[in-house]
Amino acid sequence: MFKYDKTSLKAEEFINDGEIMDSLKYADENKNDIELIDKIIEKAKLRKGIDHREASVLLACEIPEKIQEIYSLAEQIKKDFYGDRIVMFAPLYLSNYCVNGCVYCPYHAKNKHICRKKLTQDEVRQEVIALQDMGHKRLAIEAGEDPVNNPIEYILECIKTIYSIKHKNGAIRRVNVNIAATTVENYRKLKEAGIGTYILFQETYNKKSYEELHPTGPKHNYNYHTEAMDRAMEGGIDDVGIGVLFGLELYRYELAGMLMHAEHLEAVHGVGPHTISVPRIKRADDIDPDAFDNGIDDETFEKIVAIIRIAVPYTGMIISTRESQKVREKVLKLGISQISGGSRTSVGGYVEPEAEDENSAQFDVSDNRTLDEVVRWLMELGYIPSFCTACYREGRTGDRFMSLCKSGQIQNCCHPNALMTLEEYLMDYASDETRKIGEKIIEKELLKIPNEKVRKIAAEHIADIANNNKRDFRF
Ligand code: SF4
Ligand code: SF4
Repeated sequence: MFKYDKTSLKAEEFINDGEIMDSLKYADENKNDIELIDKIIEKAKLRKGIDHREASVLLACEIPEKIQEIYSLAEQIKKDFYGDRIVMFAPLYLSNYCVNGCVYCPYHAKNKHICRKKLTQDEVRQEVIALQDMGHKRLAIEAGEDPVNNPIEYILECIKTIYSIKHKNGAIRRVNVNIAATTVENYRKLKEAGIGTYILFQETYNKKSYEELHPTGPKHNYNYHTEAMDRAMEGGIDDVGIGVLFGLELYRYELAGMLMHAEHLEAVHGVGPHTISVPRIKRADDIDPDAFDNGIDDETFEKIVAIIRIAVPYTGMIISTRESQKVREKVLKLGISQISGGSRTSVGGYVEPEAEDENSAQFDVSDNRTLDEVVRWLMELGYIPSFCTACYREGRTGDRFMSLCKSGQIQNCCHPNALMTLEEYLMDYASDETRKIGEKIIEKELLKIPNEKVRKIAAEHIADIANNNKRDFRF
């Protein structure tokens, strides 16, 4: 008998292997049970989510009509919750020094031929100016785990530097942080430094595989890693971002585990994950994705995105430039709400693209377009690229953010914020062609703000941005 308890604070009880195996068995036994599948889809239509067992059944189901129904519902939920908005961000790699031995990552300690780099504060400044000049307002900072080279003090200093830089009309308004699992005390320090979301990927929820994939270093400790979000929340961070690296383990196991993690956070802390990321393993220095035999094809990947969308409607979903333009286009429709653009995955890569012989990148980028090209592409597909960071700056995090979502006011908030921040982008950074397309979209989309007063104020602010060089309005 196994012990599964979503309210437990012990990793192996809230991510319970027995419960996952049981859920997968249940899914296999019921994957052709149309009555049950219809019941689950009906429940998902209430937009309050479905649990890991129900999601596992949908993932196992191979009936084409039912899969189509799942996709249509995912598209509808995406539209209802996120409209046509896509939030933009960029990663910023601070340091690739790392003491861990993760076998799928080129930064692993034993890789002697990768070029190791750590940005000085002056280099951080240069990188941030380059990012601001592209138009970015929201960053995700990334660093390997290395107590000597990248201690928490270094990360905190970088955050301070990033927020302090005001170059022309530029500003980084939200810094999300993706660093190794740490102590409650350090999470408290990150919170005090004003971070947005704390992001930590589980990589895999399967403990046995996890230990094999992380043979050395502090990350080897599965329980410490899996319980990190509880410590982060104890430290006062209430927006956390989770994810697995698809390709390491069986995807059905990972989806069940990831949803159990979300259910656990909701049960214990009253708020689920702010975001879920869906990276797939990619080629990089010293890493051959073919060496991992759990890779998933594009079709399965799309199905996973759709099921996450209906399972946790309030959770934002992120995709990076690991994925090609073609794949990104498909999953945007099914549930993705945040994408990166113009990314460099090497340390210092925004100021100086790397020479062939000094590869410090974490993975090869599949989507190499500039931010301007990505913004234009999104608008041509009918989306509204948004540079909004309003919630975090208005203190709407954690459950306050969730109550905004649940109150249905998001259309009166996110929509005008998206249009105002897009106008800033168009005025300060866009090419002529992008600007022309954007102006038309803003004009049309303004009319869709339901509340008349909000619509009027948003129009005034947009005119102020265009004509009076005013910036940083938000609802
Ligand atoms: S995944 Fe993170 S912890 Fe592991 S080697 Fe890469 S940078 Fe280090
Ligand atoms: S208003 Fe809040 S939820 Fe909406 S896009 Fe801005 S930051 Fe996100």
